[in-house]
Amino acid sequence: MKQRTFTLRQIIEEGTELLKAAGIEEAAQDAWYLLEYAAGISRAVYYGDPDRIMDVRQAKQFLEYIETRGKRIPLQHITGEQEFMGYPFYVNEHVLIPRQDTETLVEEALKVMRAGGRRIKVLDMCTGSGCILLSILKMYPPAEGTGCDVSREALCVAKKNARRLGVDAGWVLSDLFDQWDAPAGYEEAEQVLDERYGMIISNPPYIRTAEIQKLQEEVRVHDPRIALDGGEDGLYFYRRIIEGSILHIEDGGYLLFEIGYDQGEDVAELMQSHGYGDIMIKKDLPGLDRVVMGRYNM
Ligand code: GLN
Repeated sequence: MKQRTFTLRQIIEEGTELLKAAGIEEAAQDAWYLLEYAAGISRAVYYGDPDRIMDVRQAKQFLEYIETRGKRIPLQHITGEQEFMGYPFYVNEHVLIPRQDTETLVEEALKVMRAGGRRIKVLDMCTGSGCILLSILKMYPPAEGTGCDVSREALCVAKKNARRLGVDAGWVLSDLFDQWDAPAGYEEAEQVLDERYGMIISNPPYIRTAEIQKLQEEVRVHDPRIALDGGEDGLYFYRRIIEGSILHIEDGGYLLFEIGYDQGEDVAELMQSHGYGDIMIKKDLPGLDRVVMGRYNM
């Protein structure tokens, strides 16, 4: 059977229409991304010659990606990548796709570190793809970092990102601060949380269980549920991390959390009642509460 040929203009229109029909919100934008991913054709190349006939194999590949995206598979699971703090992070279905909101958390951490100007040991609890820890280590080289996660698959992703970005970090497999004995032969087995850190940072799961069903399909179905579900009141992980942090944080050390827009007061109170002071709530770019931070024994 003869393959249908497309000009670039036709294929981008076709891709956009198919995504629209599948109910994808940013249909045109996603079609552009996938054209670049499938065929290396950027907008600049496109506008150079939109009536160029597209290579048949590349067109087929592009339409396959469009079909996958039409099933609400996130774009980042197709391309295997999401940019965060200007760095490319490898992602898959085992980690939360890095969100732009979380850059606020990294920026607040960097402010604290740069003001201190010293070597500091950082623990990233619930590290996932490693995006928080690794961008901090990239941007503040005197820092030394450990990423902790309950998911081995997530740690594999984080380690891959560390290699790709050329960053040295430690990795710990643990259920928050309650580390179990990892099975023999498991690489992470030697790494334990037995020290104090100058900073503990975390973007834990914080969505209330009942809210999850209201999220869009890409998040609800394709982001790992264990990276989202914060229990009935959304605060389960804040409680456990704050309690556990006491044994692992230096006096004067910083604890920083990403939070949901309506969780600032609750998390601040929890921190206060566990010995944290200098507590501040910071907003993200759209102006919503996004970060709570404080210092231990200050
Ligand atoms: N901010 C994420 C979302 O809205 C949730 C991330 C989290 O629970 N830590 O999907």
